[in-house]
Amino acid sequence: MMVSPAIALGVNLKVLADSMDESAAQVIPGAILGDYRDLATVREFAKDCDVITFDHEHVPTGLIRTLEAEGVRIQPSADALIHAQDKSYLRKALEPSLSPRWAIAASAEEVHDFGAPLIVKAIRGGYDGRGVWNCVTVEEAIELVVQLGSVLLEEVVAFECEVAVLVARSQHGQAAVWAVTETVQADGMCNETITPAPNLTAELCGRAQQIALEIAGLVNLVGVMAVEMFVIGDRLLVNELAMRPHNSGHWTIDGSITSQFEQHLRAILDLPLGATDLLAPFAVMANVVGTEKTNLYRPYLHVFARDPGLKVHQYGKTVRPGRKLGHVTVIGSNASDLRQRAAHAADYISGVIDE
Ligand code: ADP
Repeated sequence: MMVSPAIALGVNLKVLADSMDESAAQVIPGAILGDYRDLATVREFAKDCDVITFDHEHVPTGLIRTLEAEGVRIQPSADALIHAQDKSYLRKALEPSLSPRWAIAASAEEVHDFGAPLIVKAIRGGYDGRGVWNCVTVEEAIELVVQLGSVLLEEVVAFECEVAVLVARSQHGQAAVWAVTETVQADGMCNETITPAPNLTAELCGRAQQIALEIAGLVNLVGVMAVEMFVIGDRLLVNELAMRPHNSGHWTIDGSITSQFEQHLRAILDLPLGATDLLAPFAVMANVVGTEKTNLYRPYLHVFARDPGLKVHQYGKTVRPGRKLGHVTVIGSNASDLRQRAAHAADYISGVIDE
């Protein structure tokens, strides 16, 4: 999704991919195949690049630090990225009032001290709810500690909704935020976003944006980041960071003057950032999540005919049940109407509905 703005800006993208099946490798000519965990591979790849960035957060920070010390420009930096990779770093960096009650535990005793019910999280490597366990009893949590070693424990937050604030920051320290996005999750995975978050007061939205800007400065972000938060009454708690263009910001491609992908390029190239205004009062995005249906093109006939305002994005991924394969976006002035249109199209393309 970064290719379109890169073409428009005349920026050449080069990609290091695990295989030619990867989405980016399919659309960026001359993809280099190699392992992003291998220092020599990334060092060689970096030789032709002015700046390096990533579309997932699993690149080892040790490798990034080594290349940074050799003068390779990598954005965001290892020191920033660690706050998204390692949930304990973020928790330690935030002032306590911005986090759910939390602790690191490596023993049964520490879990007992924390008490149940509780959420157990893998400190590293989780995504889309994998690596997050809702434990009703202390015993369930202790089993996870035995399996995983050190884990993050959190109180179960009875939130009213979840939001994400997308923020961009350049090396010069210029920063920009988009309107607050409500993220609707199913089974720990985001399946819909509504922007601006319809149930938040203007005051709370302003505070959420302020928190995101402060975290961007605190971690010395360069690039785009999503700050995920829980909303409980008029309180906001930070859940986690995604330090890259993120699913909660996909609506910006069709719904904002500057998309998160263009903004990420501007930020890492240290160019002035673009305007983040919405192009309509609301933008709604729904993810296309795989089912058994494998032909994702035939549904175009129906959804395009039904809704000429709909925008569809496919990621070129092999269909697997439960896998995010693409998304749809609609913009307009009636949020509930937009939600129905987006959900219908996403469900029709994925095969959840077939009428
Ligand atoms: P991942 O790294 O998989 O994205 P998250 O930390 O975002 O993991 O958790 C996934 C989902 O689990 C969240 O979107 C939220 O719905 C739920 N969740 C996470 N932490 C808590 C918590 N402390 N209390 C209640 N629900 C939580």
